[in-house]
Amino acid sequence: MNGANQPKHQLTDYVLDEIICPVARMRLLSEGINDNNRLLAYEAVIGDKACLSCGNCVDACPVVTENHGFIYLPNQRTSMALEHMVGLECRRCYRCIQSCPQVDKPIKEYAAGFRRGEKIIHLLTAISIVLLALSGMALAHYRDFLPPFETFALDVIHRVIGVILAGLPFFYFILDRKHLMRWLKKVFVWKKVDWFWTKRLILHIKDHRKNPMPYRGEFNTGQKAWYVFISLMIPMMTVTGGILLLGFRSDHTSFYATVKLLHITLAFITDIFLLIHVYLKYLRNWGLKIYAIVKSYKDRRHLNYYLP
Ligand code: SF4
Ligand code: SF4
Repeated sequence: MNGANQPKHQLTDYVLDEIICPVARMRLLSEGINDNNRLLAYEAVIGDKACLSCGNCVDACPVVTENHGFIYLPNQRTSMALEHMVGLECRRCYRCIQSCPQVDKPIKEYAAGFRRGEKIIHLLTAISIVLLALSGMALAHYRDFLPPFETFALDVIHRVIGVILAGLPFFYFILDRKHLMRWLKKVFVWKKVDWFWTKRLILHIKDHRKNPMPYRGEFNTGQKAWYVFISLMIPMMTVTGGILLLGFRSDHTSFYATVKLLHITLAFITDIFLLIHVYLKYLRNWGLKIYAIVKSYKDRRHLNYYLP
């Protein structure tokens, strides 16, 4: 990224870390498609970075897809309309930036790598928790039925992944300190608005037709609660797992039994929360999509559920 295409990093970082649609501002930091696509005065022919109303960013945005479906109206297929539709629910996926013909390639590359550290940590945490849950359940329920080698392998896997999970916060610190600090500030600062969010969620659960889901954007109260739980769960599981691993192997001591019970209870709660997390993030949307496809086929004998 050299010369005129060099993004102004401070500014781009600020825009990319906001929970507001970034594409229009990234477009304005770009050179644009070409220099002669707009007449501003009779004699002055100059290039600009205006929105072409192509709608690529609108089509690419997951918030629009989930909340509004496909957008047909041409005047709603612009970056300004996208900003309105997304509001404060931007997920910082940057698909709008990647899909915009007016945004320069160096800016697209910069945005693609901007959250790579965060994404790697998220992926490693998710994989570790799932593998720990599976190996832990297999050991807890089937240890007596499994052949010795499989039991040994599962034991090793469970312990090695436990150590990896315990080390992930430190890895995050090394990989992307800035985003770790941002994450900590957002997750551990609770305000009155979180109380309102909880009240709205309870109302939604009581009657979902009358009361819409509360704010689902980044660091909503539910997500914050999940992250706080994860932050406490990892050290507690590490300590209890370490105690179980290192000693006090006499199964009859009440201390060993209490630690084991605590370890299993925490694992169980984590599994339940993980299922809720996966449901809200993926399963619910897939279910709604499948429902829309089936309904479209039933009503119009057509599988394109976007058709009005
Ligand atoms: S959610 Fe993704 S595509 Fe939508 S506005 Fe935010 S960064 Fe762009
Ligand atoms: S993708 Fe198209 S509609 Fe979106 S900001 Fe770029 S030019 Fe405008």
